[in-house]
Amino acid sequence: MTRKSLGFVPLIWQCSFCNTQNPGPIKSCTSCGAPQPEDVEFLQVDEEKFNFIKDEALVRMAKAGPDIHCPFCGTRNSATDEFCKKCNGDLSWGGKERQAGQRIRTVTEAQSQEQPAAATPKKKKKGVTLIIIFILLAVIVGCAVLLFMSLKTDDVKATVSDVQWERSINIEAYTMIAESAWRDEIPFGADVTRCSSAHRYTSDTYVSGAVEVCGDPYVEDTGTGVGEVVQDCSYEVYDDYCEYTAMDWVVVETVMDSGYNHAAAWPAVDLLTDEREGERTEAYVINFRDGSDTYQFKTPNLQLFEQAQIGSRWILHINQLGAVQSLEPAN
Ligand SMILES: [Zn+2]
Ligand SMILES: [Zn+2]
Repeated sequence: MTRKSLGFVPLIWQCSFCNTQNPGPIKSCTSCGAPQPEDVEFLQVDEEKFNFIKDEALVRMAKAGPDIHCPFCGTRNSATDEFCKKCNGDLSWGGKERQAGQRIRTVTEAQSQEQPAAATPKKKKKGVTLIIIFILLAVIVGCAVLLFMSLKTDDVKATVSDVQWERSINIEAYTMIAESAWRDEIPFGADVTRCSSAHRYTSDTYVSGAVEVCGDPYVEDTGTGVGEVVQDCSYEVYDDYCEYTAMDWVVVETVMDSGYNHAAAWPAVDLLTDEREGERTEAYVINFRDGSDTYQFKTPNLQLFEQAQIGSRWILHINQLGAVQSLEPAN
């Protein structure tokens, strides 16, 4: 999100002794003269619309940074002051900067939140959070148990009872295809048929030509008694999304052969002039028997398959889920 400043608005603070509401930049109560406490909360006066400050000196002061409390007498001084207005103390000697950047409440918000009414929905939220944490924990424990069960193996001696193989070859043809893509991702030589503007991505930072989308403005404490109205904005980038046609190799058929023996062979391929062979796949299944128990092992490894002659004895490493993890001939 990009933080956008819209301008500065007046704030007030309430005297804790006489409850008088004083303007933010005034540093002692206009009614009883009590000094403004260090942890005083500034409040927003404008509720419906922002009454932006036009006084340039006040704006400059707000932009200068948070006020500094004198390390000797506690008096609030402007960020640009070098010596305390009251005691003339050196402010570079550990003067404390006022807190800044926190969101300012309106006078109405501050008054309504002081009444302890909004306690129940918070409690409900806590319950939901606890349930979510519990579910997450259960998922993590479940995954850990599964991982443990798949890693821990037992050894079993078994005999090859039967085998199976399957081999396939893709046949590709050079064909006209219709596709769609962002304009800068269209392959070279393609024929673009139609484009329209579409939302491609949203950026947190400013992008030239993008659509700016901003949230509701709110007021932040500048630490000077003046508030800054800010807005969080993001940028929606639009781009040309196009339909196009192009020539490409496309899988049009898969020829397959299989058998229940060790005579694995590639299927016969009959190609037309605009066709070629594509990807080849091979899969072998070895079935084992140990008394009444049966086990199955699938592999793309032809050498291992040919070694697994019917009736040969093997040591199988079986995990807790009943799957064969690995195997070796039993000699
Ligand atoms: Zn007062
Ligand atoms: Zn001082």
